Amino acid sequence: MTLPQILVFDFDGVIVDGLLEYWDSSRKAFLKIQGALDTDDQLPLEMPHEFRQLRPWVKNGWEMVLLTAELIRKDSPLSMHGAFHFANEYHKNCHTALKTWGWEPKQLQNALDNIRKETIKTDKKKWLASHKLFPNIAERIHQLENESVDFGVLTTKSAEFTSELLNHFNLHPNFLYGHESGQKTTVLLQISKDHSVRGFIEDRRATLETVLNTPGISSIPCYLADWGYLKPDDRKDLPSDIHLLKPEKLMSPLANWP
Ligand SMILES: [Mg+2]
Repeated sequence: MTLPQILVFDFDGVIVDGLLEYWDSSRKAFLKIQGALDTDDQLPLEMPHEFRQLRPWVKNGWEMVLLTAELIRKDSPLSMHGAFHFANEYHKNCHTALKTWGWEPKQLQNALDNIRKETIKTDKKKWLASHKLFPNIAERIHQLENESVDFGVLTTKSAEFTSELLNHFNLHPNFLYGHESGQKTTVLLQISKDHSVRGFIEDRRATLETVLNTPGISSIPCYLADWGYLKPDDRKDLPSDIHLLKPEKLMSPLANWP
């Protein structure tokens, strides 16, 4: 029996650029948690440059709320030494920041999700409009049908919001997995049981490296999205099993991909 084929896409940084929305929602989530509106004037409406610079290091939504908080704390390592210094010891700095604020990741994730639910309820049009598709990605996804390849989405965003956005952009995946479904490697293992996975497109190099090191899915073709949120050094010395996917290659037939 031949297994159906599927191409799996990460969402943020591969299909959609939602950075502006992330700043807006993280900012609101922080203000909600603090319950102190007097900090409002210290949190600019416009996204700080450091927030954009740190985006490639972020794995989960709650980290962005934490980064937002650290951006207004005047004696935080982020405020004092800047984004790249913070990024050098990203996990350690996040861990220390959580302790300083006395927060748990879950609490931040819930605050972020609740703010989004609220915004969708009150101003869905604006919320949808704060997300942009990367150039040509929708056209490319629609072509998959002609190649008899299913379209899958695997994201650390909540499935509920991802589904709203995909619908808005007229994209209808055969499979959609959000952070509720567990680790990306676990989901990929699951998908591989009844599909031939033609590739996994992701803009987080560390995630692709984990896939390559996970028995059972290590032979899935891994593609690093050149147009996504990449760290300055992500394109350098890529392992031979991770292919840098440029937009031109993305647009070519799947049969021509490395
Ligand atoms: Mg991503």
